[in-house]
Amino acid sequence: MGELSSFLKKHKRSFPIGLSGKTGMGYILTGGISPLSRSNGLAIDQILEIKGFWGNGKEFHLFRPNTKLESNFEWKALCGAAIFLGIITSVKLKTQPLRKLLSWTANLSFSQLSECINQAESWPNSLSFQWICGEDIFAHAIGEIKNSADESILINLLERLPFSRNRVINKFSDMNSLPNLSLGNNKNNNSNHSEVLGLLGPAWQENNPQVLKILKELMNKRPNKNCYIASQQLGGLTHLNDLDTSFIHRDAIWKPWINGAWEAYDQSKRKRALEWMKECWNNLEFICPGVHLAQIHPHLEWHEKELSSAFKDWLPKLKEIKAIHDPRNIMPPLK
Ligand SMILES: Cc1cc2nc3c(=O)[nH]c(=O)nc-3n(C[C@H](O)[C@H](O)[C@H](O)COP(=O)(O)OP(=O)(O)OC[C@H]3O[C@@H](n4cnc5c(N)ncnc54)[C@H](O)[C@@H]3O)c2cc1C
Repeated sequence: MGELSSFLKKHKRSFPIGLSGKTGMGYILTGGISPLSRSNGLAIDQILEIKGFWGNGKEFHLFRPNTKLESNFEWKALCGAAIFLGIITSVKLKTQPLRKLLSWTANLSFSQLSECINQAESWPNSLSFQWICGEDIFAHAIGEIKNSADESILINLLERLPFSRNRVINKFSDMNSLPNLSLGNNKNNNSNHSEVLGLLGPAWQENNPQVLKILKELMNKRPNKNCYIASQQLGGLTHLNDLDTSFIHRDAIWKPWINGAWEAYDQSKRKRALEWMKECWNNLEFICPGVHLAQIHPHLEWHEKELSSAFKDWLPKLKEIKAIHDPRNIMPPLK
């Protein structure tokens, strides 16, 4: 995605890449939630054509339908669930004009995080808030500047955010130049292994204090210092729902993800980290009932639950489509 972003920059265009330039095609195929998705849509919303081979070896080449009426199940399945069905060999993507980005980064306390989330829930779509909570809390707000009037509105909103230290407000030319959302303690950390579970849910609103209390408790219990919970902000995606896709949680406002880490090859620590992840999921499920399958876990006992939370009522039809196009389960399983 970083290469895509740098290439497009030369042509004054951009693509809603995610928080890291290091991700590949899987970012686009699994939804692709960008800090710019609130205004520009998900990565799957930019797909115009898609080519590849179904699991049964048959080639396909599909074009984006013009309306919901023209939309078909195969298009819907490939936009968000392609990794279960076949190998994608090429996509044609819509791009957007390149615009300057505003970036606000800072370290926060729990109560400041709570206030920032509160404020972000009433922001315009051109601004999004992401945070990571482990040993410390680091937050990153990203805004797209459409014009100079817009810029002062966004700066005003950013200046209202509380912080404890290291606040920096800066302008960047493209997504790939933005600072990383990281706690800086896991650089090149090959001695740890990890799993990531992405959740999706509505605005916290009046549940904000309760969710923050749960978060604090979960952090205190984390079995390894590289375990963390982070989140990105979506919301406002429902107006971009002009075609059916397999990303069914269009009304989600937050995508918190749980990162469980343990010392590599230590099975008992792995077990503890996975148990902590499950505890996080159980405790947060009331406010995050959905799952974003950016990472899949066919090797874990919760795979069936993550599939049903990701696709809900659409899952049975998706299974039928898989039975036709990938009957021998060459691709990852949908059960
Ligand atoms: C540092 C970091 C930051 C991230 N930030 C974001 C973010 O901001 N927003 C977001 O939505 N997600 C984010 N993710 C999640 C990321 O988008 C997913 O993990 C994604 O699946 C990664 O895709 P990949 O191609 O890089 O990885 P891979 O592990 O190579 O692929 C992931 C999955 O996609 C399948 N796949 C890859 N290419 C194809 C293909 N051509 N055809 C069929 N299947 C294929 C693979 O088999 C695998 O199951 C982030 C991940 C990381 C590590």
